[in-house]
Amino acid sequence: MAYDAIIIGAGHNGLVAANYLAKAGRKVLVLERRGIAGGQLVTESFGDGFGADSLHASAQLRLDIVRDLGLNLPAVSARSPYVCQLGDGKRLTIDPDPARAQAAIREFSTRDAERWPEFLAFMDRAAAFLDAAYRTPMPRLPHFAPVREGLPLAGLLWKLRRLGGRDMFRVVRAMSMSAEEFTDNWFESDALRAAIAALAIHGVTLGPMSAGTGFTLMHNWLNRGGLAHQSIAGGVGRIAAALIAALKARGGEVRTSVEVQSVIVDRQRATGVRLANGEEIPAPLILSAADPRHTLLKLVGAAELPPEFVWQAQSIKLRGCVAKVHVQTNGQHGLPEGTLAVAPSIRYLERAYDAAKYGEISKEPYLEVTTSSSTNERNIVSMHFQFAPYALRNLDWNAANSIVGQRAVDTLHAHCPGFKASVKRMHVITPRDLESTYGLSEGDLNHGQLILDQIFFMRPLPGWSKHATPVDGLFLCGSGVHGGGGISGASGRNAAQAIIKDLR
Ligand SMILES: Cc1cc2nc3c(=O)[nH]c(=O)nc-3n(C[C@H](O)[C@H](O)[C@H](O)COP(=O)(O)OP(=O)(O)OC[C@H]3O[C@@H](n4cnc5c(N)ncnc54)[C@H](O)[C@@H]3O)c2cc1C
Repeated sequence: MAYDAIIIGAGHNGLVAANYLAKAGRKVLVLERRGIAGGQLVTESFGDGFGADSLHASAQLRLDIVRDLGLNLPAVSARSPYVCQLGDGKRLTIDPDPARAQAAIREFSTRDAERWPEFLAFMDRAAAFLDAAYRTPMPRLPHFAPVREGLPLAGLLWKLRRLGGRDMFRVVRAMSMSAEEFTDNWFESDALRAAIAALAIHGVTLGPMSAGTGFTLMHNWLNRGGLAHQSIAGGVGRIAAALIAALKARGGEVRTSVEVQSVIVDRQRATGVRLANGEEIPAPLILSAADPRHTLLKLVGAAELPPEFVWQAQSIKLRGCVAKVHVQTNGQHGLPEGTLAVAPSIRYLERAYDAAKYGEISKEPYLEVTTSSSTNERNIVSMHFQFAPYALRNLDWNAANSIVGQRAVDTLHAHCPGFKASVKRMHVITPRDLESTYGLSEGDLNHGQLILDQIFFMRPLPGWSKHATPVDGLFLCGSGVHGGGGISGASGRNAAQAIIKDLR
């Protein structure tokens, strides 16, 4: 066989896993259905020099991955302010400098300003603990190997204990809390609480009053390194480029515009892949960075899997609710530098989510706005729009595309007068586009919702968090498995390390 391993999907997790395997001396081939590699880490042109980071405004791979793989990454900008757009034209600007942030918070509450440094320290410690949890192999319950699986778990519990009596309980309790309750434990001003709650619901189909958004707050804080994005010189696509360069230097290959139609299974063992053009490529190891439900039910197929497992895979919850609106402006948009969250209050965010429950697009959405440029004027405005549910009740997405664009522009204009006049062109990416163009089933950004019953030893499925599947030689390495989602590379690293350990 020409290859030791084939990786399906050149998102960052597929590329991270491929690099680890290549570093361990395996000959690897990565196959990507799109004409461009990078998955959700792409900087693309929408025509006529109008381009941006299509989906994700920033990205940070885990430092151990950068070190292990010797990646030559582009420079990140200094951390910029996180600006929360409130009602009546007011804003709360949370500067990365804690003293400046405290001064701004003091306008809303002196007590909150005093607590801000303690909150920052707590969030960083909580995020570090979550990082350790994502790095720890989870047991394959109900089977449990006391030494092999118990020792790493004991190490994790020890890390939790070392947070100290107070923070240990705070972290554990926060996981199941709603963002509303969690922020209420810390702060009194609705402005600051809404600013934080917005990050908690970013990318998930949950509102700030939903249980478990305490966990998603920690998750997003970990992946982003705080509240605001840190932009990357030249765009996030340069991270994917660095991963590809490192892989090629290790003898690996990446082929784009190649769709894997199925995983070839012979007597419960994966033996290769069949492409959409009919070509078959054999390999003893297949890793899929596509989402677990798609991989198991479409690429493998129910006929090759135990019936109970098929039923479990069918119940993986995927619930896309995000659209992306990119606007080319004349540069006179009047937006502040940094990350702008249109999140006037916790109630506003919850009402935006209410629409999704009924299959409707939020009339007043939660927006997260970043600016970038293809010139040097920061003339591109990119809006992350929530909630735009994949499954609409009374509309189809062909008709709803323009509704999302219009509501995004109207909402931003209501808070930033002058914005509409600056608009030249728009490019809308709907949840349907996320599925058809970017390969995200049901438009789910994380290949499976980040909810409490789909994390740790239950990601992607209870008992299957160790990246293996019922098909020998087939492993899962994308955001839908333990360590994911988000742009961190953790699930790709975890999968590769588990496989390398098994091979040894
Ligand atoms: C708008 C937006 C905002 C987000 N914000 C955040 C955030 O703030 N915090 C956070 O933690 N996460 C966020 N995410 C989620 C995060 O971006 C993803 O979890 C992560 O990028 C997924 O990376 P991946 O490598 O696992 O998969 P992907 O990047 O999805 O890559 C999978 C690749 O597999 C390819 N593929 C699929 N099927 C096949 C096939 N049959 N043959 C060949 N190739 C195939 C796809 O084309 C794709 O390139 C956001 C996502 C979006 C879209």
